[in-house]
Amino acid sequence: MRDYESKDGTMIFGGMSTVDIANKFGTPVYVTNEQILRENYRRIYNAFAAHMPTEVHYACKANTNLAILSILEQEGSHIDAVSIGEVLTCLKAGFPADRIMYTGCNVSNEELQAVVDTGCRINVDSESELERLAKITTDIPISFRITPGVASGHSGKVMTGGKGAKFGIPYNRVIKTYERAQELGFDVKGIHAHTGSGGLTVDPFIEVIEVLCELVNDIKDRTGIELEFLDFGGGFGVPYKPQDPEAELEDLGSIITDMVMNETDIKTIALEPGRYLVCDSTILLTKCVDVKNAGTKNYIGVDAGFNTLIRPAFYDSYHYVSIANKHNKAGVAKYDVVGPICESGDYIARDRALPEAEEGDIVAVYCAGAYGFAMSSTYNSRPRCAEVLVNNGEAELIREKEDFEDLWRHQIVPKRLSKQ
Ligand SMILES: *Cc1c(COP(=O)(O)O)cnc(C)c1O
Repeated sequence: MRDYESKDGTMIFGGMSTVDIANKFGTPVYVTNEQILRENYRRIYNAFAAHMPTEVHYACKANTNLAILSILEQEGSHIDAVSIGEVLTCLKAGFPADRIMYTGCNVSNEELQAVVDTGCRINVDSESELERLAKITTDIPISFRITPGVASGHSGKVMTGGKGAKFGIPYNRVIKTYERAQELGFDVKGIHAHTGSGGLTVDPFIEVIEVLCELVNDIKDRTGIELEFLDFGGGFGVPYKPQDPEAELEDLGSIITDMVMNETDIKTIALEPGRYLVCDSTILLTKCVDVKNAGTKNYIGVDAGFNTLIRPAFYDSYHYVSIANKHNKAGVAKYDVVGPICESGDYIARDRALPEAEEGDIVAVYCAGAYGFAMSSTYNSRPRCAEVLVNNGEAELIREKEDFEDLWRHQIVPKRLSKQ
């Protein structure tokens, strides 16, 4: 896990005091370090590009802030988009359509038409989608998401590649589907699979590459189609705990590209990291507003709840926390860090040894850039928080915090009920 330096006892992030950032922009606030984001992109890109032509498709559902997308666009990233909203957001951030690949699941005809209209690449998820796409156009290059029968992930909720999954062309229908696409007149360029999200072992990647390589060759033998790219999805785990192992990306890059180059004629390898690129680029700063000794437990009450960061409540995910203004002080007591949402499941961290907490302390929640803001909500009528970008000692607001008017926007009270 990446840790951060401190100065005079205060945690420093992107060259800035986290306490100054919290004071200037208010809390809770997501803070992204531009240099870490760029470093993450370069590391994962180079791990593969050192061996063969590589496309990194940022799985943008992890974080769709336009400034963050713009940074990755500058780095040369491609996009994996799972909805028309994500496609349009990435176009707005400046990605050219041909660097966006749409991988939908249970796609409606309206969405399919809208995606075709943008000119982005389409990765087809089902035989039904293929037939429906053919009615709109066959004049676009496509690829298929297949169900590899390999699953991975930090939680059952995010395992996507297992046999019987709702995602992809079932394994025993793959050849038939490529044949059908050829018959319909499509130019089929690639094959894709995604096993799941956030696993820390390399085995599922090796397994899925084996499945994909075999299929690439079977497809060539049975249909004559020579695929150009192989996309083995995302799911690269990130160490959330201090003792978690680092991902061995360089080894993985060399093993995987070796397999692909030795076993197939594939020209380009594609991967779809979401979490890996953004996760540890971002921290969440939240203020301690209440300290409570409840007899069996000590609570640090903060102003961020599962409306702001849902991963602990939703997946029981672990996020490392530290008191940013007591950064190098030793833990003296065990605390639960809990938010303002009126459910007992509302927590950020449990049983953490922390320095003595006081109202006004700033709590830093680590590794909050992936599925953090993106999954936040206005539950309990709390407007969503701001996002800030820090870079070499400068901080810029990249999303204003919402206000109460935002809660009511789009709601309509019929005139007969209205008092105004
Ligand atoms: C979510 C998703 C990813 C990224 O998963 P991470 O664990 O964030 O890397 C990649 N590909 C597809 C199709 C996805 O749905």
